Amino acid sequence: QNHLIHALRAASAGRDGDTFARLPGGETVSFGALFAGAERMAAALVALGVVPGDRVAVQVGKTIEAIQLYLGTVMAGGIFLPLNTAYTAAEIGYFIGDATPRVVVCDPKRLAETEAIAGAARVMTLDAAGRGSLRELADAQGGFDPVQRDSGDLAAILYTSGTTGRSKGAMLSHANLASNSQVLRDHWRFTEEDVLIHALPIFHTHGLFVATNIALLAGCQVVFLAGFDPDAIVEAMPEATALMGVPTFYTRLLADDRLTRERAANMRLFVSGSAPLLVDTHEQWEARTGHRILERYGMTETNMSTSNPYDGERRAGTVGFALPGVEVRIMENGAEVAPGEIGVLEVRGPNVFQGYWQMPEKTAEELRPDGWFITGDLARQAADGYYIIVGRQKDLVITGGFNVYPKELESLIDEMPGVLESAVIGVPHPDFGEAVVAVVVPSAPGLEAETISGALSGVLAKFKQPKRVILVDELPRNTMGKVQKKALREEYAGLFT
Ligand code: ATP
Ligand code: MG
Repeated sequence: QNHLIHALRAASAGRDGDTFARLPGGETVSFGALFAGAERMAAALVALGVVPGDRVAVQVGKTIEAIQLYLGTVMAGGIFLPLNTAYTAAEIGYFIGDATPRVVVCDPKRLAETEAIAGAARVMTLDAAGRGSLRELADAQGGFDPVQRDSGDLAAILYTSGTTGRSKGAMLSHANLASNSQVLRDHWRFTEEDVLIHALPIFHTHGLFVATNIALLAGCQVVFLAGFDPDAIVEAMPEATALMGVPTFYTRLLADDRLTRERAANMRLFVSGSAPLLVDTHEQWEARTGHRILERYGMTETNMSTSNPYDGERRAGTVGFALPGVEVRIMENGAEVAPGEIGVLEVRGPNVFQGYWQMPEKTAEELRPDGWFITGDLARQAADGYYIIVGRQKDLVITGGFNVYPKELESLIDEMPGVLESAVIGVPHPDFGEAVVAVVVPSAPGLEAETISGALSGVLAKFKQPKRVILVDELPRNTMGKVQKKALREEYAGLFT
């Protein structure tokens, strides 16, 4: 049997007529239709020459056909390799060169530029409506018996978001994906009664392996939205039970007056992750809807590792506890830190990936032989066990030999009146090596940089105080809502030199 497909199909077996997806406009897709279409995709890929272990690279819009392509690739024994739709042809060229896929699927609008960089790969198309040459080929196929794949075989290569440097291809096995989604389904209590609002992109772990896989494993419905659409989300809420989002989903929904306690009355769960959720957002959300957002922590390489509890306290500013079956520890200089101290978070468990595609040195640097993965995220543990992500190791500022954790300053600044949010970075400085700089987004006109500096000087040690506070209209973010500190560091690199 095919390990992942078997797991994803179990809950809907015998329920072919039940609805899996509700599409905008009222159309629905049943579980039977979803998997039949996936089988035709698998047959089409095999007709294109895909054999087990081949990569299928995909840069297409979010459609049911794209989900079927994911499932069909896995059924054919292939390795699914989704790519951010925002990537340019030059960027795609890197991924294709790196992963040497057998088939590349792109939007018909980008056919010519994709063909130019596709090398030996066959290029097929799938558009935003799920049509194109791949769909035509699939429509001409019959059923397909998923090929045998074992727990350790690769199901996907997912490139990391490229927040800290060049994206790396994380090799994920059938068991990595199946085990994590099973744990999450149970931990977050998903059943076939649920209706999940699915508004995340499906080229990233959050939308593909958390949202899609959980829904399939639970055999529940999804309200399938092509992107983040506040109108559609607010409209869907009265009949939905769950939403998974990045923090920007929540801040943007809060800006919508239609978001009320009544509208959210049928909802049972709001999940946030992929970037830190501000305490303020958590509090405002509860005040407005009566629900406490459940924040969890994960990454491309590990799927999800920690989560706030479903029943216990969902504590703002924390990512909860290690998920069942997942081990987490905080390390410094080769040893676990003393309780409460900051160190680098490491993760071990069935969720941890198989290494970086064609980067053995990088893999050896980050994945220890005994299975511990060095996440590069700094964390500490509260006395009662909750994990708190303090930021990324690469964002740590070392000024005059002292460590400054940006999150400490950001939390203080974010609480100040007139501040919407902030990002604290280190930039080159002739005397200090690095200087602390605070980039701040005001929530209303009238905020002065001096007010912020003044307020911080009363509460922070001198070395931690920003050497400069800069007011901006917004912070640079990628599609997953992650603040691009690399871009900020480049922009302000010349401030003191
Ligand atoms: P790259 O590895 O290419 O630099 P990336 O780390 O942003 O990019 P992802 O795998 O998409 O790529 O993101 C994982 C990271 O997102 C984590 O390492 C962590 O820094 C951050 N993250 C995820 N969830 C949370 C959370 N709840 N709170 C804080 N940070 C989070
Ligand atoms: Mg990363």
